[in-house]
Amino acid sequence: MEPALYVVATPIGNLADLSQRARETLAGVAVIAAEDTRHSGQLLKHEGISTPLMAYHEHSSAVAADKLAGRIRAGEAVALICDAGTPSISDPGYRLVRAVQGLGCAVVPVPGACAAIAALSAAGLPTDRFSFEGFLPQRREARRKRIEELATATATLVFYEAPHRIAATLEDFVDLLGPDREAAFARELTKRFETIRRATLGELLAEVLEDENQARGEIVLLLGPTPKESQQLEPKLRVLLQGMAEHMPARSAAKLLSSYSGLPSRQLYESLHSTRGSE
Ligand code: SAM
Repeated sequence: MEPALYVVATPIGNLADLSQRARETLAGVAVIAAEDTRHSGQLLKHEGISTPLMAYHEHSSAVAADKLAGRIRAGEAVALICDAGTPSISDPGYRLVRAVQGLGCAVVPVPGACAAIAALSAAGLPTDRFSFEGFLPQRREARRKRIEELATATATLVFYEAPHRIAATLEDFVDLLGPDREAAFARELTKRFETIRRATLGELLAEVLEDENQARGEIVLLLGPTPKESQQLEPKLRVLLQGMAEHMPARSAAKLLSSYSGLPSRQLYESLHSTRGSE
């Protein structure tokens, strides 16, 4: 095989999703760098592949990345896999890719399963523009702050979430964005209990609270774009905000009106900006 780093996607549940090209690549490289060698060893065993594995995970040092990059420069083909799905997507990978690129070696993607894309493809939310947000912060305060920052996004947002946090996260979404925003929930994709559900945030929260099975397994949460009508401010609020912004910095005006109106201060700030731009 040509010396390169092959970034190989593996299944996210259904082993039949390993592509023919992925199989051939994993069988043909000199070594496979894997997040968890025991876990990936099972996949290789299932596929009858005997290529040696070595550990490369989130806490691997820059030296480890340089070492692997050095092997490629010396003429070896190296594959990178993660526990499930596509390396580099909420998984280790990009540092190694950069190290390899830094030595002038090729990086070749061998695409396949990715939970975010699988969820997006089947959720029924707009896909013309989307933003991958990965995991929200675990601490409630930081998570709520992040949700507020994202409240007025005009693209579909894709989150990964741990099952034991899904109810709390949905509660925060409902609390900060209201129960009516469209969202979707994709659980256990490609597996036996696959569930894909598009509904309002309020309905999804009720379902998760009613049926504890809905808070089990692996989950992708998707949030639909801010509806067009709520991107516009009520005329009275707009006039008030503009008046305030004449007497104080725009950010302070947005923050103050946010505590009065309950609207996210970022939305108010941005609306001020777009009004000013159109004047
Ligand atoms: N690199 C992986 C990818 O390409 O999707 C993502 C790895 S990230 C560490 C793991 C998270 O991905 C899980 O917590 C879950 O949110 C999501 N995930 C992975 N497999 C999934 C599946 N089968 N169904 C739903 N979500 C999944």
